[in-house]
Amino acid sequence: MITHICDRCGRPIEQGKLRYIAKIQVFAAADPLEITLEDLLRDTRREIDRLLQQCEELTEEELMRDVFVKFEFDLCRTCQKAYVTDPLSAASTR
Ligand SMILES: [Zn+2]
Repeated sequence: MITHICDRCGRPIEQGKLRYIAKIQVFAAADPLEITLEDLLRDTRREIDRLLQQCEELTEEELMRDVFVKFEFDLCRTCQKAYVTDPLSAASTR
C-alpha cells in the first residue's frame, strides 16, 4: 500500500519502505545590536513611520515570509541520498 509520495521525485513510497523527512527552516539572521549614544539621540520617528507604512502595504503572510519560513518534505531513499550529498544544488530543490 502506498502511504506517501516522494516530494522530490514524485515516486510512491510503499508502507514499510524507508522514508525520510526533510525539515527546512529559513529565517532572518540577526547580528548582535550595537547601540551607540548617537543612535539613542537620533530622532527615529520618521524612520519608524516609513517602516510602518511599508508594512501596511504587505499582507501578514508576506511579512512573515520575510522573517521565517519552514518546509517539510517526504523523501524516498534515492532522493535522501542525493539531497544530503548536495542539499543546496538546484536539482535537489525541485
Ligand atoms: Zn524520491
